[in-house]
Amino acid sequence: DAAGTEGDTPPGDSAYTPAAVPPGVTPSMAQFLEIKAANPDSILWYRMGDFYELFFEDAVTASAVLGIVLTKRGKHLGDDIPMCGVPVHRADEYLQRLIRKGFRVAVCEQLEDPAEARKRGSKSVVRRDVVRLVTPGTLTEESLLEAKSRNYLTALFRAPTIANASEPTPGFALASLDISTGEFELGEIAAPDLLGELARLAPGELLAADTLLGEPAVKAIIAQSSASLTPVPSPTFDSFAGERLLKSHLGVTDLAGHGTFSRAELAAVGALLKYVELTQLGRRPVVLPPRRAGSDAIMAIDAATRASLELVKSASGERTGSLLAAIDRTVTGPGARQLAERLAGPSRDLALINRRLDAVAYFTTAEPTRDDLRETLRRAPDMARAVARLAFQRGGPRDLAAVRDALAAASAAADQLARSAQPIGLPAEIVALAADLAPVGLDLHGKLASALVDEPPPFRRDGGFVRLGYSADIDMARSLREDSRKVMATLEARYVNETGVKSLKIRHNNILGYYIEVTAGNAKPLTEAPHSDTFKHRQTMASAMRFTTDELVDIEGRIASAGERSMGLEQDVFNALADAIAKAERMLGAIAAALATLDCHLGLAEIAVEQGYVRPILEPHADLSIIGGRHPVVEQALKSQHAGPFVENDCILGRPPGDMKQLQKSPGFPGFDETGDGRIWLVTGPNMAGKSTFLRQNALIVVLAQMGAFVPARSAVIGLCDRLFSRVGASDDLARGRSTFMVEMVETAGILNQATNQSLVILDEIGRGTATFDGLSIAWATVEYLHEVSRCRALFATHYHEMTALAGRLKEVSNVTIDVKEWQDEIVFLHKLKKGAADRSYGIQVAKLAGLPATVIKRAGEVLKTLEAGDRRGKGTKAAGAAVLDELPLFAAARPSSHVPGAHAEAQHSAENSALQQALAAINPDDLTPKAALDALYKLKALAKPKA
Ligand code: ATP
Repeated sequence: DAAGTEGDTPPGDSAYTPAAVPPGVTPSMAQFLEIKAANPDSILWYRMGDFYELFFEDAVTASAVLGIVLTKRGKHLGDDIPMCGVPVHRADEYLQRLIRKGFRVAVCEQLEDPAEARKRGSKSVVRRDVVRLVTPGTLTEESLLEAKSRNYLTALFRAPTIANASEPTPGFALASLDISTGEFELGEIAAPDLLGELARLAPGELLAADTLLGEPAVKAIIAQSSASLTPVPSPTFDSFAGERLLKSHLGVTDLAGHGTFSRAELAAVGALLKYVELTQLGRRPVVLPPRRAGSDAIMAIDAATRASLELVKSASGERTGSLLAAIDRTVTGPGARQLAERLAGPSRDLALINRRLDAVAYFTTAEPTRDDLRETLRRAPDMARAVARLAFQRGGPRDLAAVRDALAAASAAADQLARSAQPIGLPAEIVALAADLAPVGLDLHGKLASALVDEPPPFRRDGGFVRLGYSADIDMARSLREDSRKVMATLEARYVNETGVKSLKIRHNNILGYYIEVTAGNAKPLTEAPHSDTFKHRQTMASAMRFTTDELVDIEGRIASAGERSMGLEQDVFNALADAIAKAERMLGAIAAALATLDCHLGLAEIAVEQGYVRPILEPHADLSIIGGRHPVVEQALKSQHAGPFVENDCILGRPPGDMKQLQKSPGFPGFDETGDGRIWLVTGPNMAGKSTFLRQNALIVVLAQMGAFVPARSAVIGLCDRLFSRVGASDDLARGRSTFMVEMVETAGILNQATNQSLVILDEIGRGTATFDGLSIAWATVEYLHEVSRCRALFATHYHEMTALAGRLKEVSNVTIDVKEWQDEIVFLHKLKKGAADRSYGIQVAKLAGLPATVIKRAGEVLKTLEAGDRRGKGTKAAGAAVLDELPLFAAARPSSHVPGAHAEAQHSAENSALQQALAAINPDDLTPKAALDALYKLKALAKPKA
């Protein structure tokens, strides 16, 4: 029992009642209730010895969520107190589960040794208080965080008008801090971009004023973003407090050196830093200089587009299957986080993109350097997170070692870069990185390396992390302890000798400390003269007796004090090293960021070489010329399944620049001719031909290019995109009460309202979820609008072949189609794009491939023929539908198997199948002897044999 070992009274036990406490409530219960009352929204973890105990409602909730036993302990006002407990050494694991389920946990610790409390009287209560509130956005432990994901705490504030807009535009200010690394980001966005921005930031926890949450529209957007929401009182969004806190965290008296900040941004900062203070109980987080986010710096990508392009998460919500997973060749957690951040927010800053591309390009050719650097980085721990934990006084010796090893890796990397620079010279981006990696005058690494053992233990309280030879005092105390152990062994030998009891042993346990033990039968020499004066009896066990001596007590005291002394000295060393790290916090942040950036560049170079990507050319126009483009995710999937090569395709939107004309020699080059520059491509083609793949690959290539990565193509010239839209496939959102068609239309409306002439729009089968004529009309009008009003680049895939007529009417619309070959009523997919329009969709052939029953395929063929004939006779679709009723026998009448050759065979086949399945189901392999197994196999073969 945890409470028992520390001598504290559990909340339920009765004790004396001081005046301030209501009658019937024990002092320890009063203490518990007071702390709980101060933390009503959190589950209270109440430290009692080696356990965190939970009581009352918290115990009921947590035991259900964690699947741990709910018991009861003592009574409160006559009722049992429900209770459950979590052992301290497994706290992280349980904490993680509660946080994942959206709970907040208040961790209440003992602030003094129970022995201290006992000195005040046997009934006095150990001092306790909450030392930390654990919420989804304020995690720092390695075990609670994902190595490859950032964990932002984001504060959202309404800005009446955003500062960087040309005309008054209402919007929002967002301030985000990852307290596990100190990464800090600030920006404003226009109101319609809020959801996309929340999807980009993907905060672990979102803070918003309760008044703002009173607005249904804002609340709905936040609900869609799936961020864990924490309402905070409106007054905490105080821009003056924000300014003051920011200055204090950045250590400046004037913010001008870090840029200009709007009042709304500072208000968001205010709420953010206040909340950190509140949850961390005043312990200061690391806050690195803020990065500017906001609509003009980053390509705007709305939430639906992110989801449909599967940028950082696949449709199933996992990393696997996403673009991020396909291109991630980083070797460190921080590198992976930076890659994810770049991918989520491709840049619109041409200079920045080119600097990044220069670095990637350099590493694609610097072969041995790239491998060497990646090898070096593999040994670099996650320094930013270690530094942040140390700042919160939650760090251990391994965090010190993480800083040491990361610094070693950084300086090794700087050396490797300097050496590789020799013949060629490094691009500016890498020169800057190298400078950050090798900070002048920082002897911190030397300090850490000389003080710490190579592989320190996890907990500072256990000691044992200071290197031998670092401190004479510690070495002395340790050797005293070691010597005393040797003295103990000598003493034992002497006692054996003196008493003649060969089995005499000196042992140790936590209750008695050191004691001498002999078996009951051997006790006599110790209890009788001449030794009875020396050996003092302590305990009689069933088969043994325990003694002590003055000498033993003395040596024990020496061991204990030497241990305490060396432990105390080690703590001093820890604190000194942690202080030195805290002083270098800013510089360490820069080194950690440089390591992450380096890893990111190297990873992008690695994938480029591995998959044959090229450097894209980014230009400030609004054209797009991708020659030989591939889909980065599908291509790798085909490779891993050995499913044949990915067929590359060109995409030229807008009149290509002169140098691209060289590349357009291929016959039937789509899109571009003398009459139009094909800013909008209508993509028709059979089902399964690869339309969606083609649409997405071009969007993905643009994302890759603007994040500063090489792209899967032969060449790519890309006019910078301000916004990217993708509306692919139909999806229901029944949870929010919107049907497929409604979702589709809401998203299409968003695109039409927001796309500019710098945007790229991908629309896949818009208007499909309604009646043919309605859908066609909407699709038609949408293309006209994109052409005339938005004037954006667009790819539009459709099965409405009527739409291809638009190419003749609208100057900048071109038709392309994806080739298939027909062979004996089967289709072969070539996946090759060519100029022109498809005349049909081959839907029935594809349905046949999918395994629709032969009767249905045959019937569909008949219906199609009649409909097409009706169409040709000019009856129109509705009339043709009526004609089907007249001219065709009903399905039931058409069904007899004689009408459908093969249907009989099919039925028979399935009967055989079911016999086979039954026989299979009857077999339990574990029950079979080898002989019986062989018999069973023969029987199955017989069942499977086709009947003559
Ligand atoms: P639908 O009209 O039915 O939605 P679609 O034309 O959009 O079909 P996709 O979903 O893009 O077709 O592609 C179907 C499959 O064909 C993909 O899963 C992929 O495996 C393969 N595929 C597509 N494009 C290519 C390509 N260029 N090279 C090789 N395989 C491809």
